[in-house]
Amino acid sequence: MWPDAVCHGFYPIDIHRPDGNGIDKTHLRHGVVPTVPRDAMVPNDNPYAIVAGRCVGADQAANSALRVQATAMATGQAAGALAALSGDRGGDVTGVPMADLHRVLVDAGAIVPTLPAGVDD
Ligand SMILES: Cc1cc2nc3c(=O)[nH]c(=O)nc-3n(C[C@H](O)[C@H](O)[C@H](O)COP(=O)(O)OP(=O)(O)OC[C@H]3O[C@@H](n4cnc5c(N)ncnc54)[C@H](O)[C@@H]3O)c2cc1C
Repeated sequence: MWPDAVCHGFYPIDIHRPDGNGIDKTHLRHGVVPTVPRDAMVPNDNPYAIVAGRCVGADQAANSALRVQATAMATGQAAGALAALSGDRGGDVTGVPMADLHRVLVDAGAIVPTLPAGVDD
């Protein structure tokens, strides 16, 4: 669990072979529900920008799972909420308390990961 998790992913690792010769699929272990961290959505050295969907920073295996539409939409919703909440902080999306972000997302009907104990304390 990432301390800055903004949403769940749910899809297995699903690597389409570059030569077009099939797919390498690895199913998640029972009970494993990956999450997407905010910091994967913020470009290096620029806390005033945020990305979502396929642009989220990840290695090939993680990207093969989080690229699907449901997770792309969840990261997009989180990115929009972070951008709105960062207004009071001069646009620095990394300064938004995770609890505030989760509250806004839940109020809008999103299902969010449970934050680890101690985050934002
Ligand atoms: C053939 C195929 C089948 C798929 N099947 C499935 C499936 O069954 N289920 C599933 O969940 N996922 C599927 N996916 C994956 C999923 O659809 C994509 O990964 C997901 O839609 C990516 O969302 P995104 O918002 O990151 O990007 P996109 O959906 O690509 O959105 C990016 C948008 O930005 C616009 N844009 C680009 N450049 C500019 C610019 N300079 N200015 C303004 N706008 C711009 C584009 O026109 C586009 O509308 C499939 C993908 C493909 C290609």
